[in-house]
Formats: sequence, C-alpha cells, structure tokens
Amino acid sequence: MRNLPRILIVEDEPAIAELIAVNLRHNGFQPIWAMDGVTAQKELDDVLPDVILLDWMLPGESGLMLSKKWRSNPRTKEIPIIMLTARSEESDRVAGLDSGADDYIVKPFSTKELLARVRAVLRRRKPQQSGGRIQLNDLILDADTHRVTFQEQPLKLGPTEFKLLQYFMTHKERVHSRGQLLDRVWGDHVFIEERTVDVHVKRLREALGAAGAMVETVRGAGYRLTEMVSVQSPQSEH
Ligand code: CA
Repeated sequence: MRNLPRILIVEDEPAIAELIAVNLRHNGFQPIWAMDGVTAQKELDDVLPDVILLDWMLPGESGLMLSKKWRSNPRTKEIPIIMLTARSEESDRVAGLDSGADDYIVKPFSTKELLARVRAVLRRRKPQQSGGRIQLNDLILDADTHRVTFQEQPLKLGPTEFKLLQYFMTHKERVHSRGQLLDRVWGDHVFIEERTVDVHVKRLREALGAAGAMVETVRGAGYRLTEMVSVQSPQSEH
C-alpha cells in the first residue's frame, strides 16, 4: 500500500477538526489532529506531515506564531502551511502570508475548496520543473530555450523578469506577497528591499505588453498571475 499524504490539522474546535479529518480520510489523505501548538509540536518531532492545516485562533501560541516558528526551523520550514482563519481583513491576510503560510482559507469554508487547496500545495511542493514549456492564454514560456512569446511574437525579458514570470506561471492564480516573491525568486537575500519586487513586476508588465494585464496587483497583499482577464491582442489596440 502506498503511503497516504499526512495532513496535520491544528485546530482547537473538535467539530471542525472532525469535519476536516473525515473529508481528508475519504479523499485519500491521512489526517492527524492536534488541538494546540504543544500537541502539534510533538507530532512534528515524531513524523513530519506533508501539509499543515493551521487554525489562527488557538489556545496558547497562535497559528501566526506557530507558522513563524515552524518556518524558521530547518526541520519544518519546507512543510506547506495553510492557515484556517475567520479573519478576512486584508492586513490579517498579509500577516498570515508574511508569517510563512503558503495559503489561507477563510472560515466558513467549503470542504471542496479545502481539498482543492491541499492538493494544490502538494503539487507545488513537487520539485520545481527546471525545463519545459508553460502556456497561459497566448503567453508561452519555454524554460529550455529561455524564450517567451505572446501570440507568437517573441518578448524580451531581463533575467530577473524571466525568473519572476516563470515563478508566476508555475504558481498561477495565487497571491504572492512581496516577501514570498523575494524568498522564492531571489532566494534568501535579506538585504533586498521589498520595493525591488515592485520595480521588477513593473518591468515584467512592460515587457509583456498586452499580456501585462495578466499580472494583477492585489491591494495590500501582493501580486498574482491570472488567466482570468481578457487580454487584448496588440492588433485590436490600433
Ligand atoms: Ca480556533
């Protein structure tokens, strides 16, 4: 029997934890329930899970504090964390993402959405494909030849803009905070200011021309690459 992905649920409300666990179990996951940070830490010291579902409001250490703690620990820093939160304020979302969470779900959530997000972070965790061709709308990035085309016209991108676009295209439809982009596109360059991200996103948009509309600014949160915009062809602008 193959190993089922282990999902650690850190949630103090038994009814919610049970609902999540039942749904995970029925969909081929192995849920483990911890009702607070101390219990969760014991689980982590024992066997590492594949994903952590982390409630924000917990007795003792908050989800936010736990997320920061696990992100700064080499043993746990790679584990995807999805925050479960009743808070939907923009500043809270930013705080959640900045604490190192990969994603967040606002309560009340549908179990279908929860499962989709769990699958998504598991997919993202798979080793980054270094090569290959990615297509979104008419935008094509070929990592092997380092070429980007839009509606079959080649685009000129600087090396950072290329990496940024590659990251966006392999993690589309998801909001990335500036801090996350710095970590994942630039690496751990703590001395680079977050403003740098804005500069390169601006350059990327300019280089993409009409397709630049796909790079969305999510106010107060960061940036997202989306397929769900109508991209005008350059011809129709004439
Ligand atoms: Ca709670």
